[in-house]
Amino acid sequence: MGLKKATIIDGKEFSSRTNQSLLPYVELIVEKIGRPPALAVILVGEDAASLVYVRNKVKQTKDAGMVSIEHQLSAETSEKTLLSLIDTLNKDDQIDGILVQLPLPDHINENSIINAIKPSKDVDGFSIPNVGLLSTSVSGLIPCTPLGCLLLLKSYVGDLSGKSAVIIGRSNIVGKPMAQLLLNENCTVTIAHSKTKNIEAVCKEADILVAAVGRPNFVKSEWVKKGAVVIDVGINRLPPEGDKKGRLVGDVDFNSVSNVASAITPVPGGVGPMTIACLLRNTVTAACKRRNFNEPEM
Ligand code: NAP
Repeated sequence: MGLKKATIIDGKEFSSRTNQSLLPYVELIVEKIGRPPALAVILVGEDAASLVYVRNKVKQTKDAGMVSIEHQLSAETSEKTLLSLIDTLNKDDQIDGILVQLPLPDHINENSIINAIKPSKDVDGFSIPNVGLLSTSVSGLIPCTPLGCLLLLKSYVGDLSGKSAVIIGRSNIVGKPMAQLLLNENCTVTIAHSKTKNIEAVCKEADILVAAVGRPNFVKSEWVKKGAVVIDVGINRLPPEGDKKGRLVGDVDFNSVSNVASAITPVPGGVGPMTIACLLRNTVTAACKRRNFNEPEM
């Protein structure tokens, strides 16, 4: 008898459904305030990957019927100038969400910038007040990538209560908020990181395994419990082969893990598209929250 392969969780398809589900909210906001939700995106410098991300975010925001205003600043922009732009956008009633594309040039303190954004407009959900709201289970603005992972998991698994969840990675933008979200869903949560001993055995306990490591094909099939649901957050570009650009792969060895897991997200086409869908969702949520309108539900 052949091996049963894992179901592929199609993040691309799910993200377009998520975007569709926002349309009624966008229409309602237009009806009530005379304009769609508006997102300001700030890019400092010309990092190639950031340029692609920003272009994608701006295009999809517009495709969803919302306003996207780009502020492209030179790599030499001072922290003071950036703070002053954020202050203007914080006070501008025509702007519902503010996103500063990371990473920033070395001379700018990322924490100061993130925390200068008004929490109610912080669509990345990285500011301390939003982190605090998430960890006290009150609804603020939730970081886009872990929110995207959660929406995929809830749609695929349903009730997550009582599941054993292991997250590999403890970054502020993925690992930690992911752990908090799964804890809020009543999972039993373990966070693994570079100092974790016997990571293979830790991972093997997981009903839900989320990999956010940044190492190509790091998670092997021997680490995965039979029937586990595997969410691969990693985006890693392999070295070029001949004249071809290197392939994008995740943190999970997709081919071998597909023989053990019950479901798995591919790279590309899994978590990536959900991150942008959740940015649009957070922009709608921010526009609704400020005015006490009904907002998209979990
Ligand atoms: P990060 O800040 O570099 O964090 C990586 C985490 O992995 C750290 O907590 C680190 O542990 C842990 N780690 C590193 N090597 C390890 C090892 N050998 N064993 C166990 N843990 C190890 O990365 P990130 O920003 O969270 O991103 C993770 C990945 O997700 C990257 O590939 C990134 O490109 C991708 N990503 C994708 C999206 C998307 O939209 N799909 C969004 C964001 C990020 P320590 O804390 O102990 O150092």
